[in-house]
Order: sequence, then C-alpha cells, then structure tokens
Amino acid sequence: MGKSEYLNYVNGAWVPSHTEATYTVINPATGGRIAAVPQADVEDTRAAIDAARAAFDKGKWPRMTPGDRSAALFKLANLIEADMDHLAPIEVQNQGKTIKQARDADIPFSVDNLRFMAGAARTLTGLASTEYAYGATSVIRREPIGVVGQITPWNYPFMMAIWKLGPALAAGNTAVLKPASLTPLTTLELGKLVEQSGIPAGVVNLITGPGPVVGNELASSDKVDMVSLTGDTATGKDIMEAAKSNVKKLHLELGGKAPFIVFDDANIAAAAEGAVAASMVNGGQDCTQAARFIVHEKAYKKFEDKFLERLKTVRMGDPLMRATDLGPLVSQKQREKVEKYVEIGEDEGAKLALGGKRPKDKAFAKGWYYEPTAFVDTDPSMRIAREEVFGPVVNVQKFSNEDEAIEAANDTVYGLYSSVWTKDVQRAHRAANALRFGAVEINDHLPLVSEMPHGGYKQSGFGKDLSLFSLEDYTQVKHVFIDLTDQVRKPWHYLTFGDPT
Ligand code: NAD
Repeated sequence: MGKSEYLNYVNGAWVPSHTEATYTVINPATGGRIAAVPQADVEDTRAAIDAARAAFDKGKWPRMTPGDRSAALFKLANLIEADMDHLAPIEVQNQGKTIKQARDADIPFSVDNLRFMAGAARTLTGLASTEYAYGATSVIRREPIGVVGQITPWNYPFMMAIWKLGPALAAGNTAVLKPASLTPLTTLELGKLVEQSGIPAGVVNLITGPGPVVGNELASSDKVDMVSLTGDTATGKDIMEAAKSNVKKLHLELGGKAPFIVFDDANIAAAAEGAVAASMVNGGQDCTQAARFIVHEKAYKKFEDKFLERLKTVRMGDPLMRATDLGPLVSQKQREKVEKYVEIGEDEGAKLALGGKRPKDKAFAKGWYYEPTAFVDTDPSMRIAREEVFGPVVNVQKFSNEDEAIEAANDTVYGLYSSVWTKDVQRAHRAANALRFGAVEINDHLPLVSEMPHGGYKQSGFGKDLSLFSLEDYTQVKHVFIDLTDQVRKPWHYLTFGDPT
C-alpha cells in the first residue's frame, strides 16, 4: 500500500493524501508505532466530498429499493462478523481497550447495530395519498438528506463508525467519515469490507487527518448536507459555527457526566457491582460512564465499602490478555488530563480513597496506564464532580432526601445518561420524570441495545444514535401536493372558500 501502510478509501479506490503526508499511529499500551495513515488536507477532503456528492446526485445508492440497500448492509454485517478476530486485536492495539471489550462487546454489538439498520431500512416510509385540501391529494415522502459528513471520537472507533454509517446508508445517504486521529485503523479496515460488500463506489468515503482541517471542511463545505459528530462539547460548538455556511442539518453526540443515584432501599450489593462496571468501562473513557455517585446518607457507608472493595479487584494489564479488566488510557495527553483532574480534586479538598496515581509495576512503564481512582465525600460544587474527566476516576457524594438528589444530579451542563437505584417503583418513576437526561436507567447503568435510542439533552447534544429515531434523523420529509381538478384556482381558495368542485 505504498509509503503508508494504510490508505484512504475514496470513490471506491485506496488513495494517499495528494501531498503524500502521513502520520504515525501509536499503541497506547506500549507507546510503540503500529502503522502510518494518510494525513489528509482540505484538498483531499474536497475530493472525498465530491465523490460522495456524485454518488448521491447521480449514483444508484439513493435510487435503489430499500430491499436492495438492506441486502448490501446485511452483507457488510456478515463480512464484519467473519472478520471479528482480525478487527478486535487491531482495535485493542490502537485504542488500549481490553480484548474482552472489543471482541465480546464493541464489534459484535456493531454487527447487531448494522443488522438492525439493514432491517429498518425497509420500514422507512412516508404517508401515501392523504387528502388535506379539497380537490387535491398529498403524498408525504421520507427522503435521504444527501451527503453526510461524519466525525467519530477515539473511545469506540469501530462502533461509532457503525453507529453513524448504519442509519445514514440505510436511509439512502452517501457519507464521508473521518475517524479520530488517534484511532483510525479499524475504520480503514472497515473500508476493505465495504469494498467487498458491493456497496457502490463513492457511497462510503473514509479519510484520516486532523479534526480542525478535515473535520472542519466536512462541517463547513456547502456540498455537505448534514454533519454528525460524536465528540467533545467544545468540538460540537465549533462544528455548529462551521455548519452555518449552508445551514446544514446537525447531529451531535457530545460529552457527559452521568449521575448514579443510590437510595437507601436499593440492593446495595447490586448497585456496588453495577458501579464498578459503569465507571471502569472502557477505562472510564465513555460518555455514559457513571462518574458521579450520589448516595443516600443511610446507605453511604455500606455502598462506599462495597464499591471500593470491588474497585480494588479490577485487574490492570495488557489489554490483549483476556484476564485484563483495565488497559491504558488512549494517549499520553489523556493521562495528563486525568492527572490534572486528580490534582484539582485534591486541591479542592476531595478525599482520595483509592488510586490517584500511575501503577508502579515496571510492566506498565511504557503505556499510558492509570489506576482506578475514587474520591469520596465530595461536594457537588467541586470541579472533579462537575467536569468530564474521561478516565477511571469517580467521586462519591452524599444526599439526605429525594429532592436534593435530583437537584444535584440535574445540576450539570450535560444530559446524556443517568441511573437511579431503588426498589420503590413510585420513586423510580418520579426520578425518571424529573431527571433531565436522554436516558434514565432504573437499577442498571449501561445496557444499550440496537432498539434503544441513545442521545443527549442539554450540552450533551441532540439527535439520537441507534434505534428507529436515529434512522429518522438521517431523513427529511417532503410534502408533494397534487391538484386533482384541472381547474383555474387561486392558491388561497382552499382556505377561504372550501370545496372548489
Ligand atoms: P474530540 O471532540 O476531541 O474529537 C472528536 C472528533 O472530532 C475527532 O475525529 C476529531 O478529530 C474531530 N475534531 C476535533 N476538532 C474538530 C473541529 N474543529 N472540527 C471538526 N472536527 C473536529 O473528542 P474525543 O476526545 O475524540 O472524544 C471524547 C469526547 O467524545 C468526550 O467528550 C465524550 O464524552 C464524547 N463522546 C460522546 C459520545 C455520545 O454518544 N454522546 C460517545 C463517545 C464519546
């Protein structure tokens, strides 16, 4: 594949940047080089956009029957499934997540997500022949939006690519997708499978390069009709600014700081166990990560003891080993960010109950490892309790009544994910109604299935991933009005005079 081991997939061909520039991709567990990928610039991005534009304006993908689009997506899902043992270790070496996470969760889940969208492609429909005005009929069509620019983050590289491409393609759009610079490899691997699937050239274009260059061009180009980002809230704001050039449709999945509220009647053993999974998942680099444990004072001690006891058993290690629960963070920069927040927490007077440092073991010296870390007795006003850390760091705070718990949980600019642990069904419903989050889970914190909409309130963004809501987000509604009378009529006639026949 030329100078760079990976190339970009544009208009059905594998291409370098026109400048031939590349950048190196690093393994976060070792700090070593894994591969080089093209460093695309604005001109490369424009070529990819032009390919997607031509494939949408003149190509067959948007004009195929939903059944044929569905068949192509099922074929792609089967190819991914057959390639899982190849894809999963690449994801691990590029991202640092554990092989259990990549092989048993992210990639099989992506296959299921894509199959859901392949099936759902055939359910998309408008409303046929409805009479809303005398002497006329209406057809309401649901159509694809056009060229979609898609920008993914580094925490779930493969899964986010599928969450974006699945609904976009099922609805008949064409796409240019840019993976996060740190983690491009499985997205480019996906390109090889797209090529084999028979999806026509130009429908899926994959390019690697810096967010402020490639991503910004996708967001600002007048030839792109919609832009979808999963990333930081600050990046979402930049994209909103750039996207105003042609009033693009936006789909933004942004940051989070999920509350995990434990009432005193909850099953504390289940809550503590759920808390470990929900906070350490993907090394805590998860927008739904339970990061704020808000615990009733009567259950506080019991929860804290059990939670800390279990956190101590989390096994840090080589992410390629199946026994490992926690791999390295994605980059040196991310570890520095986590360390900075731990310092801030300590300066604010939060009590460090566990971790708060890099592991001492020499085996971890070259990677970006960081120990599971818990602050207890925190105050909701502390930065450690308010800002997104995005690492294996949690804080536990106390409350004494329901109103106080809801108020603390809602006191955030984010609104992506939340959970409530209680056996009281009325309280559970009251809390679910009062929490201003795109998801509230009762007695669990994480489950996400292809049918379940996922997306934020407030500064966690808007638009949904997964589910039929996501598919609809990638469509627009057109009203077709058909006069049935062949008579000379004034346009306001329908409102003023009623039946013209
Ligand atoms: P990021 O915003 O730094 O990067 C996301 C993507 O945007 C990358 O591909 C990046 O190259 C690109 N980008 C950066 N600057 C850009 C610009 N000016 N214009 C266009 N594109 C630009 O985020 P990240 O650090 O990769 O991911 C972590 C963030 O993503 C966290 O805040 C996390 O909460 C969020 N996230 C949200 C969800 C969700 O579903 N809501 C899921 C995963 C991650």
